[in-house]
Parts: sequence; C-alpha cells; structure tokens
Amino acid sequence: MHDLQLDDVNATDENAAMVLLVDDQAMIGEAVRRGLANEENIDFHFCADPHQAIAQAIQIKPTVILQDLVMPGLDGLTLVREYRNNPATRDIPIIVLSTKEDPLIKSAAFAAGANDYLVKLPDNIELVARIRYHSRSYMTLLQRDEAYRALRVSQQQLLDTNLVLQRLMNSDGLTGLSNRRHFDEYLELEWRRAIREQTQLSLMMIDVDYFKAYNDNFGHLEGDEALRQVAKAIRSSCSRPSDLPARYGGEEFALVLPNTSPGGARLLAEKLRQTVAGMNIPHIAPSEGASLTVSIGLSTVVPQVGSHSRQVIQSADQGLYAAKHNGRNQVVVG
Ligand code: GH3
Ligand code: MG
Ligand code: MG
Repeated sequence: MHDLQLDDVNATDENAAMVLLVDDQAMIGEAVRRGLANEENIDFHFCADPHQAIAQAIQIKPTVILQDLVMPGLDGLTLVREYRNNPATRDIPIIVLSTKEDPLIKSAAFAAGANDYLVKLPDNIELVARIRYHSRSYMTLLQRDEAYRALRVSQQQLLDTNLVLQRLMNSDGLTGLSNRRHFDEYLELEWRRAIREQTQLSLMMIDVDYFKAYNDNFGHLEGDEALRQVAKAIRSSCSRPSDLPARYGGEEFALVLPNTSPGGARLLAEKLRQTVAGMNIPHIAPSEGASLTVSIGLSTVVPQVGSHSRQVIQSADQGLYAAKHNGRNQVVVG
C-alpha cells in the first residue's frame, strides 16, 4: 500500500514530517515555507503546478499533503481523489487549504478523501500542530503495516521450517523412507480408516536375505549402500499417494497399502521381489555368485471394530517367517 520500506521507516524519526504543498500561488508557498522554516524536523516541498502534484508526491513521499482547492486547470478536489486512487499516495494524509469556511465545500472535500480542512492562511501554531498530528499518525500506520508484513513473512518461514522438520522427523536417515515412528503412526491411522470404511488394508513386510553375511563379507558401508538400493526398489514399487514405504528396522522394510486387495498386493510383492533380484547386487550367500534377494510376508485384512493394527503386522510377519523357512527370495501370504 506504500513505497516506504522498513529501513526507511525505522531510519526516519517518527516526529519528522515531510510536507508537500500543492498551490498555484507562489506567494502562499513562500508564506508556508517561512512559517515552517524554524520548525525542527519538518521538510517542506512546494509544487506550483497541480499537474505535477501526483508525480512529485510519488517522488518525495510526503507524510502530509497540503492541498489548495482552487487552481487554474485542475480542480483541487479532483486531485484529492487522484491521490486516493493511486496506490503510492492512497494513505497520505491530506489537509485541504480553502479560501473560505463553507460547509458545502468542506463536506465535498471530506467526501473526496481529505483528512482535514483549513482556511488559508491558517495560524502558524495550528498549521504546525495539524501537520505534526497527521504526519505522526501516518508514520504509525506505515510502521504497523510494515510490522504486519514482517509478521506474515516470519509466519510463513515458520510454516516452511515446520514442514522441513516434520519431514526430517518422519524419515529414516539412511534410506529416506519413512521411519518406524511414522510407520506406526500411519498404519494406525489407516487401520482406523479401514475399520470405518470397511475396506481392505494390505501390509508387506520385506526382509533382506542373508544380510549378516553380506555385511560380514563386503563391510558395513557396502551394506548400507545395498539397503539404499533395496529402499529405492521398494519406493518405486508402489505408486498410489496413500502407499507408505518405511524402514521397519535394520534390514527390514514395510509397505502399507491402503485399499488394496490380496491379489493386487500379491502382484506388487512379486514384482518387487523380482526387481530386487534383477538388480543383480553380487552376494556370496546362499552360495558364491548369488545375487542379493528379499523375502516378503504379506497380509490383507478388513479390520473389525475393536481390533488392533498389530494383527496385520503379526500375520504379515508369519508370512515372512514362512518365506524364510521355505528357502527365501519369495512371497508368502501370512
Ligand atoms: P535372513 O536371511 O534370515 O534375514 O538372515 P539375515 O542375515 O539377513 O538376518 P539377521 O537378522 O541375522 O541379520 C541382519 C543383519 O542386518 C545384521 C545387521 O548387521 C544388519 N544390519 C541391520 N541394520 C543395518 C544397517 O543399517 N546397515 C548395515 N550395513 N547393516 C545392517
Ligand atoms: Mg535378513
Ligand atoms: Mg531381519
């Protein structure tokens, strides 16, 4: 709503006033200049050409405009309306200087947007007092607007920071997938939704095969890299926004699949198993020349009222246990 920046506002003494007098008569200009000459902190500008008034106001940014009403070529009231319609001058206080005390002119001036009305030439004490009063209230307005603007900016920054924090708090440092905490929270949320809507909820538990041997043979850093590769495959195996891949712990991952049928989940699981095997990450177990693989336990439930989400974890875990027991690198429904 104004051109002043925070620095301008702060750097300026709030008692300081910048006066722009717009009057076609140079004599009036001189008289007001003399009247203000000895006033501390009052800067004075005089504009004798009403057609230059708006441009001058935009350039010098007055804190008060003294506006003559009767000028050749341009009506003072029209000019008042123009100040009000221009975003750069919209809020600058305007004191109208009129030659007479006429209620009709006075009310027209206020209707056009003037803030004050003086009959010229006013007594100097009154003129200075009104200039200081309007100038100070304008400065306060600017400072308030600036404070609100700064507040909005810092509120937005806070929101952004919270979003980043939230993301950090929810994600696993090594793989970037959701961490266990977020997984627990999310599964619980989706479990309750599935109870309400009586929909199918699928869960995959994914465990890397012979991973202890992988670490022992290639080292922990290589092990970390392999986990990142598996995490990438898991992330790209699911596509719905509601699917949530997570690191459950160690070399074990989980994938929450809301609204997913046993057939659909089975298909995803099998595709994921093949993707990991197809990455051909060299391994030495179960035998020399093997590739890294995963075993997957799967479960789909329509949860009943009063049931607990650990139910689906337990049955997916049973599937995983069976997959390990049956020779690994396979999908088993628990
Ligand atoms: P199985 O086929 O039965 O799953 O055998 P496994 O060796 O994969 O299972 P086990 O639970 O015996 O060993 C898991 C290993 O995973 C042990 C641990 O050192 C390793 N591991 C767990 N978390 C991490 C990790 O963040 N980074 C690395 N590099 N290794 C990890
Ligand atoms: Mg394992
Ligand atoms: Mg394990």
